[in-house]
Amino acid sequence: MPNHGFYCNTDYYNKPPSKSDKSLIRQIKLEESKKKSLTKYRFIRNLPLYDIPIVFHIIYHEDIEKIKKSQILKQFDSLNKDFRNKNIDNVLFSKFPKEKALATDSKLNFIFPKNDPSGNPTDGITFTHTSNEFFESFTESGSYSLEEQPVKSTESGGHDAWNTAKYLNVWVCKLSSPGGYAQYPRKNRYGDLVSTDGVVIDYRYFGMGKTTQPGRDKGKTLTHEVGHWLGLYHLWGPSDSPECEADELCDYTGDEICDTPPQIGAQCGSPIGYSSEQKCPGCPDPIALNFMDGWDDEYALMFTRDQVARMRGYLEKLRPTIIS
Ligand SMILES: [Zn+2]
Repeated sequence: MPNHGFYCNTDYYNKPPSKSDKSLIRQIKLEESKKKSLTKYRFIRNLPLYDIPIVFHIIYHEDIEKIKKSQILKQFDSLNKDFRNKNIDNVLFSKFPKEKALATDSKLNFIFPKNDPSGNPTDGITFTHTSNEFFESFTESGSYSLEEQPVKSTESGGHDAWNTAKYLNVWVCKLSSPGGYAQYPRKNRYGDLVSTDGVVIDYRYFGMGKTTQPGRDKGKTLTHEVGHWLGLYHLWGPSDSPECEADELCDYTGDEICDTPPQIGAQCGSPIGYSSEQKCPGCPDPIALNFMDGWDDEYALMFTRDQVARMRGYLEKLRPTIIS
C-alpha cells in the first residue's frame, strides 16, 4: 500500500504553553473527568451546537494556486462533515468496531461569516496575488513571528488575519513542502500570537480533487489542522518520544487524551491489514481512522469522545470570543 507521506509542522511551529496556560489546561482536564464520572459521556449528547466563523485567504502566485470557489466549498462541506461525525456510515467502520464506538459528533459547526471585520458583506473568501513563489513550511529557528510568516501579512505579499478573536483564519498557499500547520490555543494571546492565529495549508492538500495530491485529496488535512487549532495533539503527543507507561485509570500520556492508547509515532497509509509498528509495549493497540494521525485521507474518519471533550473545553475557555 503506498504511503503518501505526512507533513504536518504544527509541532515545530508552537512554543510550549506558559505557566498560566498549563494551570488552565489542568482545570479543563479536571472538569472533563468530573463530567465523565457524573454522566458517563451522556453530556456529549446534550451539548450545545457552536458556530465557528471561518475565512479562507487564498494566496496565489501561479494561476493553478488560485483555487476555484467550488473547491473551497467542497472543503468547507467536508470539514463540517468530519466535525459532525457524518462519516459514521462509511463501510470502513464495519472493519473497525472499536473506532466506530468511539466516533463522536463534536457539535462544532463552521459557518461562512456574513460580514468582514469592517462590517461589509462577504462570502468569507479572499483572493490575493503574491509575488512570492512559495512560503516556507517551517523555519530553521523554530520561531514563527509574523515577520517569518509573510503569508499572514498583506504588506509582505500575503493577507492580514481577520480579527482572530472572531474568525478562524485559514491561509491557503504554496508551501516549500506541501502540508500544513496550526497555532495551538493559548490563554493570554499577545503580539504575534494574535496576528498569526489560525491554520496554514498548502493548496495541494486543500479540498477535494482538482489541485490535490493522491492520498491527500479528500480534505482531511484541514480537519487535522483545525483539530490542532482547537488544542489536540497528534496521537503520539507533541514530541517524538511519548511516555509509554499507561496509567491504570486513564492514559494522559502522549496526546494527553484518555481514549486514544499511547503510540510511538504516526500511522500512515491504510489501516486495512495493518500491523502497528507504532504500538507502545504493554499498551493496547493504537486506534485507526483518527483525524489526528497520519493516515491517507480516505482512512481519516473520526474524533473520539475525549478528543471532542478537549476541543470543546479549549474552545469555551481559550477561544470564547469565537463562539460568542
Ligand atoms: Zn498535525
